[in-house]
Amino acid sequence: AKLKDKLAKTRDVLNTPIEDFFITKTELTEDSLEELEETLITADMGVNTVMDLMEPITEKVNKKQITNSKELRAALTDAMLDLIKPVHENKELPNKKPLVIMVVGVNGVGKTTTIGKLAANFKKQGKKVMLVAGDTFRAAAVEQLEIWAQRTGVQIVRHRDNSDPAAVAYDGVAAAEARGMDVVIIDTAGRLHTQVNLMEELKKIRRSCHKSLPGSPHETWLVIDANTGQNAVSQAKLFHEAIGVTGMVLTKVDGTAKGGIVVSICHDMDVPIRYIGLGEKAEDLREFEAREFIKALF
Ligand code: GDP
Repeated sequence: AKLKDKLAKTRDVLNTPIEDFFITKTELTEDSLEELEETLITADMGVNTVMDLMEPITEKVNKKQITNSKELRAALTDAMLDLIKPVHENKELPNKKPLVIMVVGVNGVGKTTTIGKLAANFKKQGKKVMLVAGDTFRAAAVEQLEIWAQRTGVQIVRHRDNSDPAAVAYDGVAAAEARGMDVVIIDTAGRLHTQVNLMEELKKIRRSCHKSLPGSPHETWLVIDANTGQNAVSQAKLFHEAIGVTGMVLTKVDGTAKGGIVVSICHDMDVPIRYIGLGEKAEDLREFEAREFIKALF
């Protein structure tokens, strides 16, 4: 119920028109399907995704296999689940010690907050967590990460401001190994205006991790802001092409009207959504559950 409350806006955008179908349309026409398509696009599912989702449904409507709104809704739910679930199957985290997770994303999406939440989450599972302050470009980012480390009672490795992020990553991973950590979470820069340099920097951090601990980083998670809708999808594709993303965290899902991008992301990329952010506090992070999410959307 709590998730549903937090997803209220998404539910309003999606649910109200569908509810209207129930009330106003006893017979489904091509017009009503078009209206539904528009509604889904408004919820940021992306035009291509909506077309692909609606094609088999439209066919069923034409063949009178779907004759009312209730059946339409059920078919839509199933179609979305069919799209999202395979992306999330058999996506267990690798069993590594330490498990090295590099976290990327553009500034402002909630990357630092997410790292803090992840630290709290792993710690709650009894894991020893180390944070690595790899966003050496912004002094404020390092300070904020330090606050999260204190708040959650986990260790942190940082260098002086403007030092080489790849060097911090190298040391952080080495220190985590030496100190018997279970999880290492590496923060990285996210300045948008010099994207090419940013991607090169992220690649360098990856190489540096690998030098420190072969095979690491084991996971590269991209943090995206749900409210940026289709822009978030383009961002995700950019990062994925440049550095290879293995998981995503969707932030600010509380109060967003754009939760539909989950469907769009799963349609366009074979990368699981690991967590969703539902607020600013440490406990406001949830593992992504396809069925629960789709239920909350409707
Ligand atoms: P960064 O620049 O990507 O590191 O972003 P920050 O972690 O500093 O977050 C930017 C702002 O978004 C801060 O005010 C956070 O409190 C807020 N924020 C982060 N995650 C969430 C979330 O899931 N929900 C809400 N409502 N706010 C969030």
